[in-house]
Amino acid sequence: MLVDAHVHSYQPPRSFFDYDGNTRTALILVDLQNDFVAGSLAVGEAEKALEVAQKLVASGKFDYVVASQDAHPPDHVSFAGSHKANPELFADVVYDYNGQKVTQTVYPSHCVQGTWGFEIHTSIDKSRIDDFIWKGRDSDLDSYSAFADNLYQKITPLSQLLHKHAVQRVVIVGLATDYCVRATTLDAVKFGFSVLVVPEGCRGVVPSRDSDIYKEMREKGVEVAGLDDARVKAFLSAS
Ligand SMILES: [Zn+2]
Repeated sequence: MLVDAHVHSYQPPRSFFDYDGNTRTALILVDLQNDFVAGSLAVGEAEKALEVAQKLVASGKFDYVVASQDAHPPDHVSFAGSHKANPELFADVVYDYNGQKVTQTVYPSHCVQGTWGFEIHTSIDKSRIDDFIWKGRDSDLDSYSAFADNLYQKITPLSQLLHKHAVQRVVIVGLATDYCVRATTLDAVKFGFSVLVVPEGCRGVVPSRDSDIYKEMREKGVEVAGLDDARVKAFLSAS
């Protein structure tokens, strides 16, 4: 039997804090878009997440800064209005994707390419963002994660860009904790990066889920640490 040496030697990523200050580190801003802040799918206290996200952007502590955006076509499968059965908002709809039954939660129309709701909120200094990752672009499949769609049919350029910039670890903040931040964070670990999530820079659709989600992240190797954590302070103050 052949043994794939690469897979055989795989080890899970180290803790975000187990590196020295010279390690190349990226900031991933998840879906800080108008529709999630003040539009059709606004998340409570999103402005507070934006404040922290902008503080991180302005810190100058990152070798690479990337922002994801939902970039849906007008007939996207995650919109209630795209389904003939006229489902209620936030209901789960089962549909056929290439012969596979897929369950999709449906939302109001949001983040349609080219609309105001799609744009990143003006409180974020876009001139400091190196690359933008558009996701959820195909009508028939959603993408919570900035790395790949929900069925891993296609990956976005994110993992490639992080490797191109020799990044080993990432800090993740954004909207919403229980959907796109969660999915992006768990994928970052799967793609081999060491991850820190800063909760003050995130807000959830259902805030009562936060503790369960952060627990799941920790169980899967993610560091979850706030701005008051001495290790986070040290990272942000290092020269
Ligand atoms: Zn979406």
